[in-house]
Amino acid sequence: REALMVQPCDCKSMRCAEPRKTDVITIDDLKEGFANGEIFAMFQPKILLTTGKLVGCEALARWNSPKFGMVAPDRFISLAEEAGLIKPLTLLMLREATELTRDLLPTVPGFSAAVNFSATLLADPTVPEDVETILVDRKVPGSSLMIEVTETTAMSDVAKAMDTLLRLRIKGFGISMDDFGTGYSSMSVLAQMPFCELKIDRTFIKGCLVDQDLWKVVTSAVAIARAYNMKAVAEGIEDLETLWALESIGCHIGQGYAISKALPRSEFLQWTDNWERRVRDSLLRIPERK
Ligand code: C2E
Ligand code: MG
Ligand code: MG
Ligand code: MG
Repeated sequence: REALMVQPCDCKSMRCAEPRKTDVITIDDLKEGFANGEIFAMFQPKILLTTGKLVGCEALARWNSPKFGMVAPDRFISLAEEAGLIKPLTLLMLREATELTRDLLPTVPGFSAAVNFSATLLADPTVPEDVETILVDRKVPGSSLMIEVTETTAMSDVAKAMDTLLRLRIKGFGISMDDFGTGYSSMSVLAQMPFCELKIDRTFIKGCLVDQDLWKVVTSAVAIARAYNMKAVAEGIEDLETLWALESIGCHIGQGYAISKALPRSEFLQWTDNWERRVRDSLLRIPERK
C-alpha cells in the first residue's frame, strides 16, 4: 500500500496543527477528508513583470486535516490519483478558481486563474465539456482560465494529450506548459501542442543570479517562449533582484514569494485590493540604473 509520510507544511497564513512525523496517510484518510470538505484551493498571484499589474493566480490544493494538520499537495495528489479522486478534486479546484475569477473580473479586467491538470484528466474525453460547464454556469469567459500541464504529463500519452488539449484550447481556455525544463521532452512534439504559456520551473529560478548555468537555462527558456509566441512565466521568484533581472531579459509574468505566497480566498481578495491600491508601484520600482 502506498503510504506517505507527513511533513510540516510551509503555510504561514493559517494555523497549522503540528503534524506527527510518523503518521502515515492512507487512501481511506484522503477519501474521508475529501468527503468532509477538508480539501480546498489557495491562490498565488501572478503579475506582469513590466508593470507589476496583477494578471491572475494559480489555484493550489491544500488539505486541512484535523488528523494530520495542513497537508501539502506533493503529499496527497498521487494518493488522490490512486483513490480515483483526482477528477473530483480538480473539478473542485476549478469551481473555486472560477468563483474567485467571477468576483474579481469587475475590478481586475482580464484576470485569469490557473488550475493544474494531471495526466488522468488529459486521458478523459469528457473533461473539456465538464470544464466548460463549470465556467458557463458561473458566467466566466473561457479566456479567464489557464490550464497548467507539466511537460511530463503532456508527453505521457501524446496522442490523447494532444486531442484533449486541442479541444480545451478550441473552447477558449489557455494552456500552460508547467515545470518547463524538468522533464525529458521532445521540443518538436511540445511545439505542436497548443501552449500559450511556458512556465519555467522554480528550481531554475532560485539562485539563477549567482549560478551561470541556471541563468543560461532561464534566458534560453525565455527565448524559446518568445520564439513560439508563448508568454514566458517564472515561478518561485523569491527576491526583487531576481524579479528585475527576469524583467530585463523579457520574461513576461512572475509568481513567487517575493510577490506573495499562496493565500486562502478571503486573504487573496484583501491582498489584491492592497496590491492594486498601494503596494505595487512602491514595491516593484526598478532602482535607478547608475
Ligand atoms: P506547481 O504547479 O509547479 O506549483 C508551484 C509550487 O511552487 C507551489 O507549491 C507553490 O506554493 C510553490 N512556490 C510558489 N512560489 C514559491 C517560491 O517563491 N519559492 C518556493 N520555494 N516555492 C514556491 P505547492 O502548492 O506545494 O504545490 C506543489 C505542486 O503540487 C504543484 O507544483 C503542482 O504540481 C501540484 N498541485 C498543486 N495543486 C494541484 C491540483 O489541484 N491538481 C494537481 N494535479 N496538482 C496540483
Ligand atoms: Mg502549476
Ligand atoms: Mg509550476
Ligand atoms: Mg513546479
